[in-house]
Amino acid sequence: MEKTLRVVIATRNKNKLAELKRILADVPVRLEGLDEHPGCPEVEETGSSFEENACLKASQVAEFTGLHALADDSGLEADALGGAPGVLSARYAGAGANDRKNLEKLLRKLEGVPEGKRTARFRTAIALAAPDGHIIRSFHGKVEGTIGSRPMGKSGFGYDPVFYPAGEEMTFAQMGPARKDAISHRAEALRLLKAFLASEIPSLLKL
Ligand code: IMP
Repeated sequence: MEKTLRVVIATRNKNKLAELKRILADVPVRLEGLDEHPGCPEVEETGSSFEENACLKASQVAEFTGLHALADDSGLEADALGGAPGVLSARYAGAGANDRKNLEKLLRKLEGVPEGKRTARFRTAIALAAPDGHIIRSFHGKVEGTIGSRPMGKSGFGYDPVFYPAGEEMTFAQMGPARKDAISHRAEALRLLKAFLASEIPSLLKL
């Protein structure tokens, strides 16, 4: 019988777990959420890059569970703001931050910045840790674009209503999930992860 690799996903976000299960459906892995591992400590995202945060989370969850673990971290970097909000993307507006407040703060900070200087990118880092906590590999995705001056579109989340991917006439929130998934930072990193798992599972099962 084919052995499956157990991998814990370092998230309590059910949508993220469901997305990963969908994407990795034909790879012989058993993906387990943190719900299945009660008591796993909350990992503080203290890193100064997306990769550092993804590695911190993956290592700590792997050490706690004694299983392989995957973690991701993503966010937006606006060039006119020196790369902000960056690793603070989810908490940009401070205490009580939510998607709307974060987006409003971003537009406020970019007020008066001309169109040609509103370049930005979304980045994702995904880290895969071995059961002893060491990082086996990290995977990266990014999508370049520009920040509009007002929100457009209803789908997606976060900064989607103001992000125009390069070469597109619509924001991520206007184009809907199918088109976004074809070009997004997260989709790129997930494709690399999937290719790695598909070829490396036999050797990972020995770790
Ligand atoms: P996470 O690390 O994937 O949870 O993302 C952290 C934050 O970055 C989110 O709360 C959003 O504010 C922002 N972000 C990450 N990916 C996206 C995206 O695809 N669209 C819009 N905002 C995003």
